[in-house]
Amino acid sequence: MAAHNSKYPGLDPIPPPFGKEFPPVALIVEEKCIACDRCPPVCFFDALVMEDRPDHKYHRTAVVIRENCTGCGLCFEACPVEAIIWVPDTEDTKPKTRPGDSTVKDADV
Ligand code: SF4
Ligand code: SF4
Repeated sequence: MAAHNSKYPGLDPIPPPFGKEFPPVALIVEEKCIACDRCPPVCFFDALVMEDRPDHKYHRTAVVIRENCTGCGLCFEACPVEAIIWVPDTEDTKPKTRPGDSTVKDADV
C-alpha cells in the first residue's frame, strides 16, 4: 500500500488539482455508499446526514450538506469503501487560507 495515501485515500493527490482555483468540498458517491453510518458522527460541522433512498441497495445513503462542509477531510478516513470524493465548490469565491499557505504578511517578513 502506498504510504502517501493510505490514511486519507480520498485525498490523493493533496490538495486536489482544482484546489488552487476552488475550495474542495466532500461529495458522497451514493452508488458506493454501504450506509454504515460511520461518517456523520465524525463531521464537526454537521455536514453529513443519512438519507433514505428506497431504490438504493442499502435503502439509505450518506449525503453532504455542501453549505456546511469546510473541506476538512475527516470523513474520508471514516469511510471503509472510499465513497467520499472531493469536488470543487464553484460557488465559493472567497479566498481560502490554509495551514502552510504563504500570506502577504509572511512575504513581507
Ligand atoms: S470534509 Fe469535513 S466538513 Fe466536509 S463533510 Fe467531511 S468531515 Fe464534514
Ligand atoms: S462512511 Fe462511507 S459507506 Fe459509511 S455511510 Fe459514510 S459514505 Fe457511506
